[in-house]
Amino acid sequence: MSVIVGIDLGTTNSLVSICQDGVPVVLTDKEGNGMLPSVVTYTKDSVLVGNEAKKQFLEYPDRTIYSVKRLFGKSYSDIKNSSIGLPFQIGGDNSKLSIRAGDKELQPFEVSAQVLAKLKSIAEKALGKPVEKAVITVPAWFDDTQRNETRYAARLANLEVVRILNEPTAAALAYGLDTKQTGKIAVYDLGGGTFDVSILDLCDGVFQVLSTNGDTALGGDDMDQALVDWMIKKAGPDLILDAESRIAMKFAAEQIKIRLSDKDEVEVKLDFAAKNLNLQTVLGREEFETLINPLIQRTLTSCQRALRDSGLELSDITSVVLVGGATRVPAIRKAVKEFFGKSPFTGINPDEVVALGAAVQALVLAGGRRDVLLLDVIPLSLGIETLGGAVTKILLRNTTIPVSATEEFTTSVDNQTAITVHVLQGERELVEDCRSLSRFKVKDLPPMPAGLPRLQVSFTVDENGVLSVKAVETRSSQSASVEIFPSIGLSMEAVDKIVEESIDHAMDDFELRMLVELRNKAERIIVATDRVWQKAQSLMGKEEMTDLEKTLNETKAALKRGEKDKELMQNLVDRLGDLTRPLADKIFTSATEDVLVGKSVAEI
Ligand code: ADP
Ligand code: MG
Repeated sequence: MSVIVGIDLGTTNSLVSICQDGVPVVLTDKEGNGMLPSVVTYTKDSVLVGNEAKKQFLEYPDRTIYSVKRLFGKSYSDIKNSSIGLPFQIGGDNSKLSIRAGDKELQPFEVSAQVLAKLKSIAEKALGKPVEKAVITVPAWFDDTQRNETRYAARLANLEVVRILNEPTAAALAYGLDTKQTGKIAVYDLGGGTFDVSILDLCDGVFQVLSTNGDTALGGDDMDQALVDWMIKKAGPDLILDAESRIAMKFAAEQIKIRLSDKDEVEVKLDFAAKNLNLQTVLGREEFETLINPLIQRTLTSCQRALRDSGLELSDITSVVLVGGATRVPAIRKAVKEFFGKSPFTGINPDEVVALGAAVQALVLAGGRRDVLLLDVIPLSLGIETLGGAVTKILLRNTTIPVSATEEFTTSVDNQTAITVHVLQGERELVEDCRSLSRFKVKDLPPMPAGLPRLQVSFTVDENGVLSVKAVETRSSQSASVEIFPSIGLSMEAVDKIVEESIDHAMDDFELRMLVELRNKAERIIVATDRVWQKAQSLMGKEEMTDLEKTLNETKAALKRGEKDKELMQNLVDRLGDLTRPLADKIFTSATEDVLVGKSVAEI
């Protein structure tokens, strides 16, 4: 059996692991260190990697490069205005990015290649034989450019990448094999520079990603940065802010943060006369928690989205796995516990869990395990058109394959005898901004009132990336299906462009999408209420009916003038909801309830 190692190529720390007798273990260097800091120093005549490089930070501030993973897939224009907080010199233009280390110009993947080469040599020494193949993990949110950059790094380090594996999937693999659990698990991974959350279904050796979300620029580094900002404020205006003092402060910040993970307060003492930096104060855990609270909240927003996209309720989640060094911060653990309503699982070292999972995947690929199903991912989200030109995503990009997902839809118009299913691909929220893959009809439906049909739409992507879509109206059992090859005709560049655009427009799209959904909801409530108006007169009090009528008229007027104020629409929908709820309780059958809450496919 050929040797395939598992590698967690982290922003901050990297690890290499292998399965020995079926059990994944992290390989260590001769000092017994398993974690290799992803830090590289380019001195005049040598290249230092890991702890050796980290130790030289202050000596070679302009030659020491770290956190390059944050720069993967980026051009200089992408990052030039962002506060990426890296002290070394970065240059380039809108198509490339280069890092200056002393007299050397480097691309981010060249720096990562040094880290990979070091891991390869650690593994070779530990195993006593050559290592040429690896499974390398990446954040679930890495796009194709970033994944490719990871491959380039490996090529440069003389490693063949047998599989690029999503970090949370790796964590789930390690967790699933360790605890032999089944169920729905959430993986919360907060590392140095990236945050990922994924919801997975573990069942009989099949690991299905239900949803993923995250942020490629959020992690422990940002906590350090928040602390550096706090120090700068405290240090006063005379401080000389250059690469050297930034590195010194970043170091101090990280130490303070780590110490606050088990202490209630720490003494902050910075004496760096050459830079006019003289700081002596005390920082309490509570104040630190206030500083990082916005970062914590951002991770929870991602959790919320991942949960929503998985179609699960909080109560469906059977366990939460913590991954990444930054999850040692007590405030993070507390926030995760409160959000998911259960104590997270910490049985596997959060620093190692991804690398261990990569080793498991490596074993599977080497043919050493047949009870675990292999996983790959789809490059772009897939979904269908819903009312108002919105796209409801059924499979999110980066979902592991083979995969299938089903969602239920209904109609918004009475007596539709056919329903069109419009299949779309892309990250944006509106149909016009996504790529149309196919349109097909479910025909010969018996006439039914709006909201009554139950259209189950299933998307399946097999191991080869072939998508098939099936739609069944379950009340009448009418069905239709198509098979689609989504990647045909779409070049890698086109994929990159789509992903870039979706990031650029994420905010606008989100707002627009909310507005479309609010309008749809308002319309559904109006239709539903109109239909039962007569009956309502006899069931409801006079005052309630007057209130309802007034609010209905206000909402109709808002819809007519195409109201764009999201808050106003939200307020109207909330008020209508409150006013119609007692009515619904009294007279609505379960079928008409769908009208109030169901999603509708586009009218034809
Ligand atoms: P990555 O996956 O990005 O390589 P890691 O999972 O190794 O990152 O996490 C690194 C981050 O975790 C760093 O920001 C580091 O400061 C932070 N970290 C490590 N240990 C602790 C701790 N005890 N308390 C708080 N943060 C920690
Ligand atoms: Mg990590």
